[in-house]
Amino acid sequence: MTDTGADPLYERLKGFEGRPNTTAGRGKDPVNAPMIRHWCEAMGDAHPAYAGPDAVAPPTMLQAWTMGGLSGHSDGSSAYDEMSALLDEAGYTSIVATDCEQEYLRPLRPGDVITFDSVIESVSPRKTTKLGTGHFVTTRMDVRANGELAGTHRFRVLKYAPAAKKPKPAAKRPRPVVNRDNAGFWDGVADHRLLIQRCTACAALRFPWLPGCNVCGGQDWDTVEASGDGVVYSYVVMHHPPFPAFDPPYAVGLIELAEGVRMIANVVGVPYDKVRIGMPVRLEFRRYDEELELPVFRALDGLSGGEG
Ligand code: ZN
Repeated sequence: MTDTGADPLYERLKGFEGRPNTTAGRGKDPVNAPMIRHWCEAMGDAHPAYAGPDAVAPPTMLQAWTMGGLSGHSDGSSAYDEMSALLDEAGYTSIVATDCEQEYLRPLRPGDVITFDSVIESVSPRKTTKLGTGHFVTTRMDVRANGELAGTHRFRVLKYAPAAKKPKPAAKRPRPVVNRDNAGFWDGVADHRLLIQRCTACAALRFPWLPGCNVCGGQDWDTVEASGDGVVYSYVVMHHPPFPAFDPPYAVGLIELAEGVRMIANVVGVPYDKVRIGMPVRLEFRRYDEELELPVFRALDGLSGGEG
């Protein structure tokens, strides 16, 4: 949409319309077979017109012959730079290429010497797009081969102030996957009981919950309720990657329960950088949202511990 109302900036931008941007630019190389071949390979274009003794350049290479490469063209600051600076100052600091149109008047052949001129053709009134509010700027470049107009290249950008991002609704923690092998554990959590599986054949405790005993292979089990005492057996501090619903940095502990099994859980009640191996912790249940409650471990002695 086009904004209405006075726009003094637009009046100044209009002053750039028709101003030359590049005058008598010169292609760094004449049209040549190696660049044509590389282009065709990159594009996957095997058209026979672009190879052999009578090759022409693919028409869409038009702009390629004018490009300055890494070292650029040493033509100093241009009307385009001046106009960009004006837009930057007005807060239109972002840029996105929107479209390109080319017109071909004659084929380019190896050996053709390329010269070009470009001009700021038009600047749009202020427009608001999904990206933000700004001005479309169209540049036209006339490309000549051996002095003869061979084609024109129009390039349009939107120079804009980004739209304010809508705040996202607070992300929720991922849900645990509850299945028939671990449902008993989550039933326990719902009752604020941390249940450990116990093999009824050999009495080995196991965690996390599994369908069989990894000591004797027994299929039958019952549970024991963890006392809730434990120590930090190991831990990591997560900085990256950021996951929705998590606020890095935070400590993830491998907690060794008094019963001997280990489980992964958040360590709370202590700054992330004060978590230490050997630190005593105590089970509690923390509610994260209306559906999710998880066992976490609170540091009992927040500011000292195993590693000092
Ligand atoms: Zn067993």
